Amino acid sequence: MDCLFCNITSGTIPVTRLFENEHLLAFPDINPQAPTHLLIIPKQHFSSLAHTTSEQSELLGQLLTTSAEIARQQHLATGYRLVINTGHDGGQTVGHLHVHLLGGRHMTWPPG
Ligand code: 5GP
Ligand code: ZN
Repeated sequence: MDCLFCNITSGTIPVTRLFENEHLLAFPDINPQAPTHLLIIPKQHFSSLAHTTSEQSELLGQLLTTSAEIARQQHLATGYRLVINTGHDGGQTVGHLHVHLLGGRHMTWPPG
């Protein structure tokens, strides 16, 4: 399948692998929107969060708890934001489920 993040997972496109286990991979966003901006992805391809079901409950739980663990490793003790853009209106541009981990500055609300 021609998917950018599957090509990153497989190593076809090299990235700095900040965290990796059997199911998940984290790497820096190529166009950072904050001093810390990482992407955490499942290695298995899901086109978006909307393409998951309760079958993925354990994986999605790991995605969140691992994101929190990576935030600790990144010393984001004063806070951070996790974002999952989903679908066209959600602003999703890469069709492989990913969590943005943003930190190192104060975030505003509402998002654009
Ligand atoms: P989305 O808009 O789908 O929520 O987020 C996609 C993210 O992937 C964007 O923040 C974009 O900067 C990032 N991105 C796009 N292409 C690449 C790439 O080739 N390498 C990395 N590391 N990030 C990418
Ligand atoms: Zn993919």
